[in-house]
Amino acid sequence: MTTCIDCQHWNPKATDTNMLHFGFARCDKKPLPGHTLSAKAEACEQFAQLEADKVQARVAWLKDRKAIV
Ligand code: SF4
Repeated sequence: MTTCIDCQHWNPKATDTNMLHFGFARCDKKPLPGHTLSAKAEACEQFAQLEADKVQARVAWLKDRKAIV
């Protein structure tokens, strides 16, 4: 299943640290800036694949911050 963590629009670097710890981050496609989605949420119709090396870097960045991913 494709999930938000693989999407270009999922934006952990613009997300509050407390939400990151639970594996949630902003989606830049959502109208409300505070709207967050789980890394494991099923991808929506606006999904845009992030390159594999960037997904790996994202996972490492999240793990460094003790996020659940
Ligand atoms: S909700 Fe859709 S557009 Fe937003 S991060 Fe997830 S898959 Fe991407």
